[in-house]
This record gives sequence, C-alpha cells and structure tokens, in this order.
Amino acid sequence: MTTILIRNGRVIDPSCGKDAIADLFIEDGQIVGTPSLSPSTIIDAAGLWVVPGLIDVHVHLREPGAEHKETIETGTAAAAAGGFTTVIAMPNTTPCADNPDVLKMVMEKAASLGGTRVIQSCAITVGRRGEQVVDMAAIKKETGVFVFTDDGDGVESDAVMEDALCRAVPLCAILSQHSEFARISKKAALHEGEVSAVLKLAGQPVASEYEMVARDIALVKKTGGRLHVSHISSAEAIDAVRRAREEGLPVTAEVTPHHLHLTDDTVGEAGTMAKVAPPLRPLHHVEACRAALADGTIDVIATDHAPHTIADKAGSMEKASFGMVGLEIAVPMILALVKDNVLTPSRMIDAMSCAPARIFGIPGGTLAPGAAADITLIDPDDPFDIDPRTFRSKGINTPFAGYHATGRAVCTIVGGRIIYRTGRAAQTPGS
Ligand SMILES: [Zn+2]
Repeated sequence: MTTILIRNGRVIDPSCGKDAIADLFIEDGQIVGTPSLSPSTIIDAAGLWVVPGLIDVHVHLREPGAEHKETIETGTAAAAAGGFTTVIAMPNTTPCADNPDVLKMVMEKAASLGGTRVIQSCAITVGRRGEQVVDMAAIKKETGVFVFTDDGDGVESDAVMEDALCRAVPLCAILSQHSEFARISKKAALHEGEVSAVLKLAGQPVASEYEMVARDIALVKKTGGRLHVSHISSAEAIDAVRRAREEGLPVTAEVTPHHLHLTDDTVGEAGTMAKVAPPLRPLHHVEACRAALADGTIDVIATDHAPHTIADKAGSMEKASFGMVGLEIAVPMILALVKDNVLTPSRMIDAMSCAPARIFGIPGGTLAPGAAADITLIDPDDPFDIDPRTFRSKGINTPFAGYHATGRAVCTIVGGRIIYRTGRAAQTPGS
C-alpha cells in the first residue's frame, strides 16, 4: 500500500475554509486524518501550496478523429503537467460523442492510462446538428454521464434547447452551452470593434453571445433546467448571469484564462494564435470577467484547451481554426491574477477545483479525510518563460509563448498515485 506524507505545505482547501501550514497524509488512495503507517514517500512541501486536485470542465482531447491534433494520452499528460486531476472532454469529435459507445471508449481508454481522470461529455443534439436532442436518459443510464454540450456551436433553436432543458430536469443533468448564435456571429474571426475595423476584417458582435445567454436564462426560468454558460466573455452576458443568480435561477458560468488576460489588441500582435471562440474582447469586457470571477458570479475557471496543428493556424485569419491550448499554462496565468490582487488564493482554488466538483457532481474538490487523494501541489514562486516546445500537449498554439510567468503546478496526485512531479516537489527531503 502506498503511503505518502506531504509535509509542511500551505494547505488551501476552500471546501472547509482551511488555509494553514499543515501535513497531509495519504493511505490506500485516500486522504487520512491520522496515519496508521509510516510513509513510504515523503514530499517536502515547504513553500508550496497543497490544494484539492484541479478540475478543468472544458478541454478538447480531439480523440476520436483528430489524433494529429491531440490524443487522450497526450491531452491527459498535458492535464497532469498542468496540475489537473480531472478533466471534462468536449464531444466535438469524429465520430461525435453523442452516443454511449464513444463516451465509453474515451473514458475506458483514459482510465487504462491511469493518469488524469476523464469524463467525456455528451452532445446535446444528435451529431451536434442542433436538430434532435439525444436520448439523455439512456445515455445517463448506460454511461453515468450527465453533462451535455454541443460545444463548438450553440443550440440555435429555441424549441430544441427548451426540449433539452426539460429532459435535463428529472436527470439532474447539466447543459453546458457554447453561447453563440451563428446567425449573428457569422463565425467571424474576431470581436467586432476598433481592432476588426483597423484590420478590415468582419467581426462578431457581443450580441451573438449575449442573446443566447438571455434566451437560455428565459428557458431556465420556464423549465427549471440547469444551465452552465461555457467560456463567458462579455460584460452584457455576465450581467445577465448576475441577474439570473439574484433571482435564484440554477445558472452557473465559467471563464477562460485567456479571456481574463487578453484583449482583442492581441489579435493585431499574435494573429491567428489569438483567434478563439468566443473572441478576445476590449478591456472593459476583460475587467468585467475579472470582477465577476472575484465576486463569484462566474463560478469556474476552465481552459477550453483547444490544440491545433501549425497548419490549422497558418494562413489567413478567416481560414485559421479557432482555439488555443491552455492546460499547461492555466495555473501560472491565474497565479498572476492572485499576485495582482484580483483573486485571493482561496478564490483561485475554489474556481479551479471546489466549484467544478460542486457544480458538475465530480468527486473531489476537497482535502477532507476520507476523500480520494486527488491533490495538486503548486509552487507559487517558480519563475519560468512559457515555451510551447516543452508542452506535453501536441498543440503549441498559444499567444502566451514567451511570456514570463511566476509559479506553476509541481506535483499532481490522482487517487494517491503521483502522476506528475517536478521542480521543488521532486527534491528528496532529508530526514
Ligand atoms: Zn466553445
């Protein structure tokens, strides 16, 4: 039986309001209050944060169908290196993850690798075509999965979205919506504003996001279904979520590290590497995202890790693929917000672990005795330059290349097994 002692770390566990220097014991895959055996492994965590394993509810693992961009193996390796113990994979694969066979294949393959845990979300509609809602009850019954999303596209039809929300109610299922009316956005490459005008490119207005969020909230009111707004990016949509929450509606939201850091000016500098859906927006939207994350209106930080090949990102803004990688740089990007006093350490860990567990019904998000030992160690002071060539992900598409960062995940433990260890967490302590 593996027994681990994580010694002298700063244990930050918002699930029970803890923030103190303490030891943490792991026996038989679980966190224990008092050890019954002497540890076989000791990790000296002095100067490190010891937090509940990070959970990313929005990643693209690309398998099946686009293994040249990423595989379950490389994607989960990237997740482990980023400090993530569980990820939710998006269903825009080929074939589409809209049926139990694909869901089970992905989750069984991930489980056989023994690394970061993977929950494969299911499409809301058959083939993500937005026309016919999948048999949500049968999918939950056969696979246990109750997170549904057509990510990559929003569900345009009011009637189809209402049907999905109604079916979600008795299943306690969650509908995670990529909020974008394509009829408004025209899938344009960037935000409609000064930058798109200067670059003489078509832009997508805020309305494509805001109007779908507002429509969905109205449907939540009517049906009682659970809505999670994926990668929220605009002040208007955030205001709509804030009002819904004040009314007590079951609406939650996530934001990406890139929407917390980058404005649409980045498109002028980084070109297609900054092409992402929803698009990067002007500063007041970034500030609204930061404020809403700090005050809890936005519950969750999710990366929307979207690996692409160099060829996918070459060529014109119009032709390049949407998306950027995020798993391996999320912790440093969010630590930067802690250093700037935008977030407290506790709020950061809540948004990256406790809230995702709570909202998506994922085991974890706590260091309480008896919980599975899913744990992340973070070195908040480790300086390094972001170099995509060091990524475990196949994707190196990020506008953050060359950024100087301070702090990162240095150890990832899943079910009591150390799946990633580097830096100060890899040094053998003296006895
Ligand atoms: Zn999306």
